[in-house]
Amino acid sequence: MSFSSEDEKVYRCLRCGSVFSKKEQEILPGFRCPHCGFKIVEKVRPAVPKRVRAL
Ligand SMILES: [Zn+2]
Repeated sequence: MSFSSEDEKVYRCLRCGSVFSKKEQEILPGFRCPHCGFKIVEKVRPAVPKRVRAL
């Protein structure tokens, strides 16, 4: 059961603040925000909530 992979990297545009995955970004030439085209993004951790259910 592999839930998260290295391919699930998430980035955030420093201009419009939208968060997108590497896959979303790959549709564009170069590395830029798929929403506004800004080239400066920061890497963020994917929001994968790790919760342990207390039974
Ligand atoms: Zn943007």
